[in-house]
Amino acid sequence: MAVETVFSKIIRREANADILYQDELVTAFRDIHPRAPVHILLVPNQLIPTVNDVEPQHEAALGRLFSVARKLAAEHGIADKGYRLIMNCNAHGGQEVYHIHLHLVGGRALGPMLSR
Ligand code: 5GP
Repeated sequence: MAVETVFSKIIRREANADILYQDELVTAFRDIHPRAPVHILLVPNQLIPTVNDVEPQHEAALGRLFSVARKLAAEHGIADKGYRLIMNCNAHGGQEVYHIHLHLVGGRALGPMLSR
């Protein structure tokens, strides 16, 4: 049984967040602890706890995350220089909130993807 997180409350606008985009499938809002000048979280409106729980019926929402990420990157002026999209899974992946989310991070050179 999936357990709701604060992200479900943000999607329903029951918790505060700086929402930048919302449609019938996905919501995008600024990360509360930004790691870069642009740090936006893109989430499916339906609760999917981790990538391990992804099923074919989720493909429309998960595809939408990328098209909205592309649009928000352009709107925030980081498309040409580049940015990073990250989705963490479970403990070794560093996942803290168990409602899958795509991090859109940019606005500065981000360096190597993984530290040694
Ligand atoms: P994860 O480590 O699960 O991939 O990333 C979770 C992200 O959610 C973190 O970057 C954290 O700062 C962000 N976050 C956690 N709680 C909240 C919240 O209540 N509001 C917003 N806007 N971001 C949150």
